[in-house]
Amino acid sequence: MNINLEEKFAEQYHKKADAVYFTPGRVNLIGEHIDYNGGLVMPCAITLGTWVAIAPNNDHKFRFKSLNFEIQTLVESNIVNDKDGSLWANYPIGVINEFIKDGKEINGVDFLFYGNIPIGSGLSSSASIEIATAYALNSYFDLGYDQLELVKIAKRVENDFIGLNSGIMDQFAVAFGEKNKAIVLDCETLKYKMVDVDLGKYVLAIINTNKPRELADSKYNERVAECQTALKLLNQEITLHYLCELTAEKFALHSHLITDETILNRATHVVKENDRVHLAAKALNGGNLEEFGRLMYASHESLRTLYEVSGKELDTVVDFCTDYDHVIGARMTGAGFGGCAIALLEKGFEEDFAKQLTNDYVDKIGYPATIYISEIGNGPHLTTDTYR
Ligand code: ADP
Ligand code: MG
Repeated sequence: MNINLEEKFAEQYHKKADAVYFTPGRVNLIGEHIDYNGGLVMPCAITLGTWVAIAPNNDHKFRFKSLNFEIQTLVESNIVNDKDGSLWANYPIGVINEFIKDGKEINGVDFLFYGNIPIGSGLSSSASIEIATAYALNSYFDLGYDQLELVKIAKRVENDFIGLNSGIMDQFAVAFGEKNKAIVLDCETLKYKMVDVDLGKYVLAIINTNKPRELADSKYNERVAECQTALKLLNQEITLHYLCELTAEKFALHSHLITDETILNRATHVVKENDRVHLAAKALNGGNLEEFGRLMYASHESLRTLYEVSGKELDTVVDFCTDYDHVIGARMTGAGFGGCAIALLEKGFEEDFAKQLTNDYVDKIGYPATIYISEIGNGPHLTTDTYR
């Protein structure tokens, strides 16, 4: 689909858009299910994202339209406090609500959104539309927030206004992403480091399993509890705040305290996955993509067998990648039980990969996966490139 957002804005609002901004989605390259164990994650921004065209109005109203959704919303600026059912416009409304609570004066704005991130698949279209709104308004009206303040505002919207108890990685990755760089982030302290990623002759293939992530929430809570159990047992001998304070070697010295096999498996994943993030950063720094690819496969294997958050759909994709000659690494990304996998795919094989993977996936799962080709892209910015 080719979309000219400025043209669509003029059609919808019968006036010109004043500015168009782009905000990416994100994937986590490695470091899965360890953010709540004091570990490091390694997300990056992708070239799929959310565009927003805006123009101020003198009507004291906020109008929200999205080319992705039929329902349009109009909010009077003085009643922006209220959440409107489960409407998509709650994401931008929540952001404006935060700005107004903070004493910022914005009178009225017309918005038109369009996103090419698959919605609800774990690529964080929600963080993207939150940061898109926050970044656009902050830039256009010179509200004076820095990037980290926007991240914290967007997280509050997701947690308190939308009501989803998620961490800060998504908003952080979307706002701080840079072209050809990954972010090594400690979600607890918010200390981070940018790592150069030269994908060379490879691209990032993102494979949406199209499986709804129905189990993700309850299993997520179960894994959090299991990690706390492991932590308690280890604390009989040593003092730890988080499992990720342990290296694999140190863990081996004390792991005898965990007699339950399941709990031991969970803790083993966490400790080794955290080590893998350090190794991955080293590999990328040294330009060793093959090693990075091996770490991706190792991460998936651990999530599949030790942490048990993968599933038939994600495994089918990663197994296919393992057998496919022109992929050097693949893994599930996100909470698991569906959602997306990522793969490092050699350029020039995009079509062949998509065709063969689709055949194999339909054969085994019964419906197709969707394949997107992405690069590691930039964070939020003003854009004139409104054709998508
Ligand atoms: P994910 O973040 O994994 O894509 P979520 O369920 O957290 O999935 O967020 C998806 C929701 O975000 C959508 O249902 C919608 O309410 C909102 N959203 C995301 N992108 C857009 C868009 N382009 N236009 C309107 N709403 C959007
Ligand atoms: Mg989301």
